[in-house]
Amino acid sequence: MEFDLIELINAATALPRDDVVLGIGDDTALLRVPAGQELAVAIDTLVDGVHFPRGTAPEDIGWKSLAVNLSDLAAMGATPAWATLALTLPHSDRDFVGAFVTGFAALAKPHRVALVGGDTTQGPLAVSVGIHGFVPAGQALRRAGARVGDDIYVTGTLGDAMGALRGLAAGGTPAALRARLDRPTPRVEAGLALRGLASACVDVSDGLLADLGHICRASGVGAMVEADAVPVSDALRAHFDAATVRGLALTGGDNYELCFTAPATRGETLMRLLSVLPGGVTRIGRIVAGSDVRAHDRAGLDITPRTRGWEHFSA
Ligand code: ADP
Ligand code: MG
Repeated sequence: MEFDLIELINAATALPRDDVVLGIGDDTALLRVPAGQELAVAIDTLVDGVHFPRGTAPEDIGWKSLAVNLSDLAAMGATPAWATLALTLPHSDRDFVGAFVTGFAALAKPHRVALVGGDTTQGPLAVSVGIHGFVPAGQALRRAGARVGDDIYVTGTLGDAMGALRGLAAGGTPAALRARLDRPTPRVEAGLALRGLASACVDVSDGLLADLGHICRASGVGAMVEADAVPVSDALRAHFDAATVRGLALTGGDNYELCFTAPATRGETLMRLLSVLPGGVTRIGRIVAGSDVRAHDRAGLDITPRTRGWEHFSA
């Protein structure tokens, strides 16, 4: 039966790539990294009821499991190439796996990601996707590199996914917000466009202030975010009051947008290249001396929330 499932997965995700010498079916895959490129590698696990609400459609789980990983490649400015998939399923469920790989392939195909191997086991529902991409040697976008005076930017809009979770807890959520939670769009093209422009970059998975904090810690700088400049969707504004919207945008997780810094001299080029991409780009603040990540409102009042975002194993 497990063999049937692997066949099903292979058929749904098959995609020719010259750099895949051997894909699914042997004890390991055999892969060729192009000369002059570094291999960018990441893995993310989604656990039922933790990283997606119980009852999430299997297509959406398939999409999201790849999307969160593509988002990590995007944040490094890497081009996606190969994925591996460890599936833990309560039962050998062909319908579930068929739907799951449909969602996975819907994102893998346009990004030309080949699924080259994995593991299928029985247990509580959990999905781990490993991702592999390429970046020209020395050109990856790291968290370290932000300098005092750099501008801070984000792609897309923030807070929708967390808004969807709030809505669910309160008994209902608009479809537009739910779609941002279930089918995040990894900003792969934006990440590629940022090579040679951004001084530091991170993807916003835990919350804007938390993830910007990662850039600041790695770079030895602080940040001042203009809370009213942080882009939010019309759907979020329509569903929550202004103070809640602001909190969701600053601290809500699961966005999978990029947050990055760049010297002011590159601002014009950067806006030109990124504003035409899906989601666009917005300047939201400035890198400052120190180590604090703070937010202020239009009047200059400090409105930094007490919690900055999501942390596992936090009390
Ligand atoms: P082994 O026991 O040698 O690890 P498996 O029987 O687990 O091999 O897997 C057989 C082949 O199927 C391997 O190539 C493996 O990478 C692939 N495979 C297993 N599960 C998955 C999965 N969920 N997604 C993709 N490939 C898988
Ligand atoms: Mg083996």
